[in-house]
Amino acid sequence: MKRFIFSIFHCSLIIFASAQVVEPSSPKAYRAAEKKINDLVHTKLEARFDYSKSYLYGKVWLTLKPHFYPTDSLLLDAKGMDIKQIAIVKAGKNIPLKFAYNGMEANIDLDKTYKANESYTVYIDYTAKPDEFQAKGSAAITDAKGLYFINPKGEDKNKPTQIWTQGETEGTSVYVPIIDRPNQKTTQEFFLTVPSKYVTLSNGKLMSQKNNTDGTRTDYWKMELPHAPYLFFIGVGDYAIIKDQYKGKEVSYYVEKEYASVARKIFGNTPEMMAFFSKALGVEYPWIKYSQIVGRDYVSGAMENTTATLHQESAQQDARQLTDENKWENTIAHELFHQWFGDLVTSESWSNLTVNESFANYSEYLWLEYKYGKDAADEHNYTEMGEYLGSKSERKELVRFYYSDKEDMFDAVSYNKGGNILNMLRKHVGDSAFFKALNLYLTTNKFKSAEAHQLRLAFEEITGNDLNWFWNQWYFGSGHPDLDIAYSYDNSKKQAKVIVQQKQEGDKIFRLPVFVDVYNGSNKMRYNVWAQNKVDTFFFPAASKPDLINFDAEKVLLAVTKENKSLDEYLFQYKNAHNYVDRREAVDAAVEKQDDQKAVDILMLALNDPYEGLRQHAIESLDLKKQNVKTLAEPVLANLAQNEKVRKVKAAAIAQLGEYEQAKYNNIYKAAVNDSSYTVSGNALEALFRVDPTRAFTEAKRLAAAPVKYKLAEVTGSILVANGDESGTEIITDYFKSLPFGQEKLDALQSIAFALSKTKSLQNLQKGVEALIEFRDKIPVNYKDQFGPIVPNILQGLQKAKDAAGQKDQSEYLKKIMGDLKPF
Ligand SMILES: [Zn+2]
Repeated sequence: MKRFIFSIFHCSLIIFASAQVVEPSSPKAYRAAEKKINDLVHTKLEARFDYSKSYLYGKVWLTLKPHFYPTDSLLLDAKGMDIKQIAIVKAGKNIPLKFAYNGMEANIDLDKTYKANESYTVYIDYTAKPDEFQAKGSAAITDAKGLYFINPKGEDKNKPTQIWTQGETEGTSVYVPIIDRPNQKTTQEFFLTVPSKYVTLSNGKLMSQKNNTDGTRTDYWKMELPHAPYLFFIGVGDYAIIKDQYKGKEVSYYVEKEYASVARKIFGNTPEMMAFFSKALGVEYPWIKYSQIVGRDYVSGAMENTTATLHQESAQQDARQLTDENKWENTIAHELFHQWFGDLVTSESWSNLTVNESFANYSEYLWLEYKYGKDAADEHNYTEMGEYLGSKSERKELVRFYYSDKEDMFDAVSYNKGGNILNMLRKHVGDSAFFKALNLYLTTNKFKSAEAHQLRLAFEEITGNDLNWFWNQWYFGSGHPDLDIAYSYDNSKKQAKVIVQQKQEGDKIFRLPVFVDVYNGSNKMRYNVWAQNKVDTFFFPAASKPDLINFDAEKVLLAVTKENKSLDEYLFQYKNAHNYVDRREAVDAAVEKQDDQKAVDILMLALNDPYEGLRQHAIESLDLKKQNVKTLAEPVLANLAQNEKVRKVKAAAIAQLGEYEQAKYNNIYKAAVNDSSYTVSGNALEALFRVDPTRAFTEAKRLAAAPVKYKLAEVTGSILVANGDESGTEIITDYFKSLPFGQEKLDALQSIAFALSKTKSLQNLQKGVEALIEFRDKIPVNYKDQFGPIVPNILQGLQKAKDAAGQKDQSEYLKKIMGDLKPF
């Protein structure tokens, strides 16, 4: 699964209530892997869907066998169902079995005691009622109803009717009785009867389609290789199916029809990813096909159902947005890599989720490195580490046998930190050993479940080295080193000295293999040292004071570091050390000291850095209030604003150039307003507005005649609003409404709050406020603490603004709405 970490701008209208961290009660229950009494072997399901009630009418045949010890009973997960009958199938006949059902589990008395490897088949006739199960559930399972009917009665004209399922963690058992645990695996046949106008997607291969006389069609999907129940998938809807292939296997993209023409621009790298990952792992893509489908109202990022990945609607980007970048590409890589790490070899329990999610997280690095270069990958790694360090979960172990809710495992430790750890491990053992060990782990454990120890054993087998220390430190231990690194030179001894102190809280001392590069001019010496004490002192021979000592020269350490480097050393580092993070550190050191000419020198170099991400970062970090920076940067920014090829960098340069408020650049802005990128166009319009508001208003009216989105929607709408044109409020409200919950929607809050504060129309205010309340209602449960106070704060700010403006009717309306707000 792909998760998200959101951030939000502070603005005058969005004032946070003091953020209270609510620690969940933490029962110290040991979270073992589920005991295996019976093993699933095969699952055959016949399903029909009732769109009026959001029910699934199911008949399922489960073939099982005792795992080892003989047994006369079977315990199935079956959540919130009506169970009509459970029977054992003998010679084609259903012989009813006794069972006890408590709404969550069915405890079945088998007809006799079965021995290991003696298989049997039970038949269950049932109705799944996911919406009613949800209504009965606690807050924690609000998003765990397994089967989702989206706009089932077609009441919302702006939303397609769809069905999709979400099994992880244990939601599959809401729509099919099963042993819903990650350490079970089963082959599968699904017969899905749906209205003929819809297409279906499920795991495995579409074997046949049969038209029925009642306007329905039955699609038969078959999965010949075993996988875990949480990876089951059913998707139904009105989709365009775009087909690619990889080595003769079907690769397909299910998108809403208006995105058919851009589906390949969004998903088209998938076959190349399959080839790259297959080769890197030495294990061919294991399944019969690979499909990806987009589901409405899917609040997580994406889900790696075997051969049938589900993405949230943010994956559907239009052509202009894709001009900026395909922001979904990392997610596409992430879910694909899960087809090996998660689907082929599956975490035996949620405690060991790292063997799924840390790999999927790291696959984003691997793909970026292969496709776009090491700088892009390192930037990703750096961002991921920052998110982990900024998260609340940094004190948790990667493999965790104690947690209050299994959903808590899907955090910045399992993902971000886990990916960082794999990157360190790769540097420590070397590329060849790293990928050979992954190959051994996959081939040894394929079609089975595994835990972190199996990974360690594979690495030890390949390298011949004991790695318990690494696993104990990073997988079974928590935290990260907090390093203070001091450099000095002793001229009499011709010796450079590096003192490394571990300053993290507590007694834990990390064992860290580290590369150290000592530079004298163009001459570089590399040393391999181990920091493994509270304080380590390293000496390096040097005929004169080194220009730079680069500790952790490969920049892979997962650590907080503090160094006493001078700007001279950072300038040298920027010019001579080759990694993204080397240059990034130099830029960030310079950003802090923009009064210093040496810092400005670093920033000016970085404006033309070979890597686009660093160019953008440098542009956005310029402090143009400093006259020296402003003067030196101006010609560079003007050049980038015109000639930069990468749209997000060009957009950043235009935004900064706009700060100069110089009419001489208006022609640059006027040209860029017509750029295909929403960001370039929006930023150019904003820059133009600062110098020539009349012309910008004319341009905004012209641009608003065609669909506008993202930055362009916000700027166009805001300029219209500022000119008293009510259509601006509508543009911003429509744009805000169209966004699913996610970063863009959070970013757009500022614009909608601005528009609503200015509107003179009560009707437009009402529409906007309704959109805000809908947003509030749809904040996923795990983000409620963080984002819950936003809308009430905006409403309060609006009401004050309306009072001040003497707009009594609007103020009264807002008061009433605030009084009616439902508590969370
Ligand atoms: Zn994932």
